[in-house]
Amino acid sequence: MKTLKNLLKIVPLLACAYAGSAQALTINFTYDPAMDARALAGFQTAANRWQSVLHDNVQVNLNIAFAALAPNVLGSTSSRQGTLSYAGFRQALIRDAKTSTDFQAIANLPAGPCLSVMMNGTNVNPAGAGSAATFVDNDCDANNRAVTATWANFRALGLIPDSDKGSDGSISFSTGFASIFDFDPTDGIGAGLIDFTGVAAHEIGHALGFISGVDILDQVYTRTDLDDSAFTLVAPADLYRCSPASKAAGADIDWSADARDKFFSLDNCTTTLSIFSNGRANGDGQQASHWKDNRGIGLLDPTAGRGELLAISQMDLMMFDAIGWDVPEPASIALFALGAAGLAGARRRKQKQA
Ligand SMILES: [Zn+2]
Repeated sequence: MKTLKNLLKIVPLLACAYAGSAQALTINFTYDPAMDARALAGFQTAANRWQSVLHDNVQVNLNIAFAALAPNVLGSTSSRQGTLSYAGFRQALIRDAKTSTDFQAIANLPAGPCLSVMMNGTNVNPAGAGSAATFVDNDCDANNRAVTATWANFRALGLIPDSDKGSDGSISFSTGFASIFDFDPTDGIGAGLIDFTGVAAHEIGHALGFISGVDILDQVYTRTDLDDSAFTLVAPADLYRCSPASKAAGADIDWSADARDKFFSLDNCTTTLSIFSNGRANGDGQQASHWKDNRGIGLLDPTAGRGELLAISQMDLMMFDAIGWDVPEPASIALFALGAAGLAGARRRKQKQA
């Protein structure tokens, strides 16, 4: 979900490191006939961005439409999801590993069948049922043994047969903001306007797999009728979610719904790469399935400012790489980007654009 940030922000146009090699990912849209040509073109541009950086030979099918959404919500995604054993998911990551990011990630994932999870709430909490206090859940029952991922993420890992042509999710854009979308990012985003293509790319990113089960815990952790095993919702991105406290307590991940900082790390917080949002209800007010807001971390930041141009970042790509998508090594990306920048420069001069 991408929400509107009520701040006027001037963000410099960043060079995007989109690789130019052969496309393999195909994003196929089924669209509401009411969508106009500009919106469809914006979605296609957004799809092209992902297709140019993710090289898995799979087709992802998405339904797109405009709909009435909650106030301040620009776009929303509901994705088809499935649950696999943690051990099975880890094996799939190992089979798919190609980059240094992949190898670092899998080297630090627990080799056994279970994850040791720092969490809170639940009726097994030693501090009391529904308590906000954190505890380490390492009883190796259902939630310690499962990974819940988007169908598209499973496709990237070769876990879904090509014969499955079903929908991978639905993306809705708010009808309430139709008048302030800027559909043409090539000349920047107008002051007071919202980058439609960028928000579309953001929502596609959720469908491709940038999700967090912490958002569910965040909504229900005070309930006293749910034990830990009800939360078989650890997402691929959650495998790389940790904190100094979870590391010190011997947990593999920090899956708590609270306001403490949670970090993106490929080695259980020995080295922290980035920082996540931590929950609408009990965290910083933003869904945990995002980077921390307003840090310039990447496209999967939770809000879009007026006038802000949204782009896929190296940190976004590192996450998609780590959860099972095929991303070129950073060195290759840099070379491709140089080539692409040269072409773009030539076009810019011709068109006399800034
Ligand atoms: Zn979002």
